[in-house]
Amino acid sequence: MAVEEAERSVVVTGAASPRGIGRATATLLAQKGWGVGVLDIDEARGRELAGELAETYHVPTCSVAADVSDEKQVRSAVDTLEAALPPIGGLANVAGVSSPVDYLELTSTEWHRVININLNGVHYVTRRVAETMARNRFGRIVSVSSVSAQRGGGTYSKTPYSVAKAGLIGLTRSLARELGPYGITVNAVAPGPIDTDIMGGPLTSERKADLAKDLVVNRVGVPQDVAATIAFLLSDEAAFISGQTVNVDGGLYMH
Ligand code: NAD
Repeated sequence: MAVEEAERSVVVTGAASPRGIGRATATLLAQKGWGVGVLDIDEARGRELAGELAETYHVPTCSVAADVSDEKQVRSAVDTLEAALPPIGGLANVAGVSSPVDYLELTSTEWHRVININLNGVHYVTRRVAETMARNRFGRIVSVSSVSAQRGGGTYSKTPYSVAKAGLIGLTRSLARELGPYGITVNAVAPGPIDTDIMGGPLTSERKADLAKDLVVNRVGVPQDVAATIAFLLSDEAAFISGQTVNVDGGLYMH
């Protein structure tokens, strides 16, 4: 079954955060006419966003609370979204947590928390959504990695974060190969410093100026910079792009 653009939905994980990348992504996609399924651990804010998007952009929306690191919760959340929305044609894996702990201070609990949310969580959601996409012979998957994966940390979050985000690049490439025959493209974006609250709260102007020093663009990023790239990779125009990691980092990492 082909999934026509006008009747597609996208699942956006991590969309509840008021100043986050997921919310900017869900908003832009709703504006472009996608039905939007919000999957976030923050139930109240997720529901609020789904209501706002439906009212503003007149698209079908649904919100489900789930912890992406719990596979059972994820599968049941996607079942709910699927029953409520037009066919799922897109997935934006945005949910994630930071972890500023130095390696020599790292506990096993922190290591597993970060890997479970930032890497296993993306696998659980992707695996469930890919089953539907494979059946429909259409899908676009985009996961949010980080420049931290490419530069060996060097950002606010440290080693387990960097490892999980590097894992997402491997997951992306391997899934692009395996799911390609089903009409599914799989890509990642690797943001540099973006002005959200994930780096221990809102960034002060001094901190932003300091972060911008390493960039070739004279400012830190905004969530809309990343949302625009995700929306492009989910669009019909991006049909010939798969297995790629697109850097949205103000030129921090060039390769
Ligand atoms: P944010 O903290 O504003 O948003 C994170 C979202 O994920 C929140 O809505 C939160 O409720 C949700 N979430 C957290 N744990 C969850 C769980 N276990 N299950 C379900 N949802 C969960 O952060 P952000 O800056 O918007 O980050 C979004 C993504 O971008 C993350 O994956 C992050 O690692 C990545 N990223 C951010 C930056 C940056 O500078 N902001 C840079 C590179 C990558």
